[in-house]
Amino acid sequence: MTRLSLSGSLPDRIAQLRQTLPPHVRLVAVTKQKPVEMIRAAYAAGVRDFGENRVQEAEEKQAQLADLPDITWHLLGHLQTNKALKALEHFHWIHSLDSLKLATRLNRLAEERSLRPTVLLQVKFRPDPNKYGWDPLELQSDLPALDQLSHLAIAGMMTIPPLGLSEAETLAVFQDAQQFFQTVQQAGYRNLAFHHLSMGMSDDYPLAIQAGSTVIRLGRVLFGDRP
Ligand SMILES: *Cc1c(COP(=O)(O)O)cnc(C)c1O
Repeated sequence: MTRLSLSGSLPDRIAQLRQTLPPHVRLVAVTKQKPVEMIRAAYAAGVRDFGENRVQEAEEKQAQLADLPDITWHLLGHLQTNKALKALEHFHWIHSLDSLKLATRLNRLAEERSLRPTVLLQVKFRPDPNKYGWDPLELQSDLPALDQLSHLAIAGMMTIPPLGLSEAETLAVFQDAQQFFQTVQQAGYRNLAFHHLSMGMSDDYPLAIQAGSTVIRLGRVLFGDRP
């Protein structure tokens, strides 16, 4: 799949992107393995949502960016249970909640600290041994238990298609995600309030938006390739 070409400086690329994004789509700039100067440059261009994959890396960057208090930090990478507390302390959103066990742990920690983080459930709509996440059937059976976790704002889902799919196959994955999302929205859960469907990265975000994404997570197309 070819990446859409944005050109020019970082502010130019951000502006070009903004012109093409529907107003309901939120841009998370993914800055893993990129220096804090790039975060500052994107911030100066108006970006306020930043995504990182590792708790420790984010913690170090946040310490250097303490003068930018209105950033919303998004955790995108797999979270180990023993880092759950740190994740709560350093991120406003967790896109990568991938098990009932982790959810239960986060819920208890959030209750103890009077927090209510926004979390998204990571779901795999195709089998993929390289990724974490629920498969849709397993999630279906865990939803009633997740609905009981009142100290988490379980606000939607995140999905990543497997590598190497065609455009048509990738679009089909996103459409399956959108259908599942709608089914949960309409199921009448008390606590689960699905508003956000986080899907779409540098190589596939136009397809994700076409299928109904509300949050795209872009790294390379904004900041260049990672080492
Ligand atoms: C790295 C990463 C991204 C950004 O990927 P790009 O291909 O650089 O746009 C988005 N989401 C997750 C979960 C990631 O790990």
